[in-house]
Amino acid sequence: MKTPVTITVTGAAGQIAYSLLFRIASGSMLGCDQPVNLRLLEIEPAMKALNGVVMELQDCAFPLVNDIVATCDPDEAFKDANWCILVGSVPRKAGMERKDLLSINGKLFIGQGKSIAANAAKDVRVFVVGNPCNTNALIAMKNAAGVPNDRFFAMTRLDENRAKSQLADKAGVHVSRVTNMAIWGNHSATQYPDWTNAKIDGKPVTDLISDMDWLKGEFITTVQQRGAAIIAARGLSSAASAANAAVDTVRSLSFPTPEGDWHSVAVCSDGSYGIEAGIICSFPIRTKEDGSWEIVQGLPIDAFSREKIDATVNELLEEKAAVSDIL
Ligand code: NDP
Repeated sequence: MKTPVTITVTGAAGQIAYSLLFRIASGSMLGCDQPVNLRLLEIEPAMKALNGVVMELQDCAFPLVNDIVATCDPDEAFKDANWCILVGSVPRKAGMERKDLLSINGKLFIGQGKSIAANAAKDVRVFVVGNPCNTNALIAMKNAAGVPNDRFFAMTRLDENRAKSQLADKAGVHVSRVTNMAIWGNHSATQYPDWTNAKIDGKPVTDLISDMDWLKGEFITTVQQRGAAIIAARGLSSAASAANAAVDTVRSLSFPTPEGDWHSVAVCSDGSYGIEAGIICSFPIRTKEDGSWEIVQGLPIDAFSREKIDATVNELLEEKAAVSDIL
């Protein structure tokens, strides 16, 4: 029996967590032979609902779940955590400016960064889902003294999965034939789904999709606006697909990336591709055999892509400037 991995999930009574926790507990994320300790963090008013989620987890009798702790104390939740999946954040309300949202969540992620640094395991990795996830991750990273920058991630995998699905649909092929789909920049409407370097059956997407107007226009806006389209259709934000993307991200960061491919996740920029070092920006990433990761180097960036990447990076720089007092 392997040693259990301790996984902390914040916002554990929310709708993404309601899907995510059961996938983690079933072994979808770290494998069917990997036991887990679940540490579930919520704010005090949500503890009653969280206890209901715990009852349901118990009622699944998952063989891989070693133990479960539900708490509203961050220090208890992050104790010995190997993975911190930060889903909880305060949603944007009508009339609220992005700057207000950044500042409200900023305070939350300062506290969580400090608590992670003080309590988590030495090998901790921190993965932010709660929006604005790139900047929340930046704030947590800056406040987690002693935890290396390469342990912080923010989620853009749902955007990657959405982009692959759109390309597959347009080309009339199964989604598994679409690879090398990089999302650049911010998890927001400025993100750039890079079809210029994506492949279908190992060949450029333009071999199967000749509609350049669609690639340069509707494809990108469909991916950028997909979250809003789901809210319009369902009356609720995407949750199961967001949870699935979180599972995909942690799995992709835990196991070597298949030869020749990459996956998308926001990491601390090292200046690659001229993107300012130190911001949490989505790149094409490969996970190596030893468990470390690297930004894929040397991809051709044409003038079209450069413009799109610059726009989304500029938004990240604006977000960083808006929270500069707490970094
Ligand atoms: P969800 O579980 O639906 O969403 C949680 C976060 O994930 C939000 O920031 C949301 O951003 C983001 N998110 C949603 N969809 C996506 C997506 N498709 N891709 C990437 N990110 C996405 O929210 P709920 O309101 O149901 O639950 C939030 C929970 O967090 C509540 O139970 C609340 O009590 C809790 N909370 C916990 C805290 C803590 O543990 N300390 C602190 C604050 C809140 P967006 O709003 O933009 O959709």
